[in-house]
Amino acid sequence: MTEQEPIYRGKAKSVFRSDNPDELIVKFRDDITAFDGAKKDELAQKGAYNARVSAYLFRYLEENGVSTHFVRMEDETTMIVRPLKMIPVEVIVRNIAAGSIVRNYPFEEGAPLNPPVIVLDYKDDARHDPMINDEIIVALGFMTTEEIAEVKMAALKINDLLKEKIDKIGLDLVDFKLEFGRHGDRILLGDEISMDSMRLWDKKSHASMDKDVYRFDKGDVMATYAEVVRRLTGE
Ligand code: C5P
Repeated sequence: MTEQEPIYRGKAKSVFRSDNPDELIVKFRDDITAFDGAKKDELAQKGAYNARVSAYLFRYLEENGVSTHFVRMEDETTMIVRPLKMIPVEVIVRNIAAGSIVRNYPFEEGAPLNPPVIVLDYKDDARHDPMINDEIIVALGFMTTEEIAEVKMAALKINDLLKEKIDKIGLDLVDFKLEFGRHGDRILLGDEISMDSMRLWDKKSHASMDKDVYRFDKGDVMATYAEVVRRLTGE
């Protein structure tokens, strides 16, 4: 089924058409990249680990009233999703200061952000995903003011749900990135929610349990991903 050329090839996933016009096939690859693709590697099982966590969290969100593109898993790296017209805005929710917000603003790493801070970035590798604001999003025709409000509300609800889940497995949900897209006249949560798109810190040791292990050579990346899968899904 995935012998054909992908209709979209991202840095870690490929998207294929299916026989059903209302379903696309997303293949989670073993590629891992950081710094807008400047650092890249292939790590065995990485696609399967991220797919498993994404599927688990999409199902959990759906059960709690969040509309996502998730339909079902076909095999351990293949997710069937609704076709979305993606909105090129990364919606980042931050509960603890880390990463770019510490580099760019006078926050201390580890400082709690309460209420959580939502940051919107324009998704464009060539421009290094610059921060964007509501007015620019409207001016570029990406979303209306009402749609931006709807997406931010959804992001905060998703944050509450994810935090509850992640807390229970002894991790702090530091921050995470979401991407939304249009399906008919609805806006659905798309992309993935995985160790590549969340920052997770162990509550006891404060160790990174996410892609920062890869970005900053902090240890065994796949052992870390496997540990998150084990704690979250029990597998
Ligand atoms: O780099 P930064 O601190 O802005 O990242 C915030 C969060 O968004 C992190 O969890 C990071 O993994 C995620 N992110 C992502 N894809 C990007 C940029 C950030 O998943 N292109």
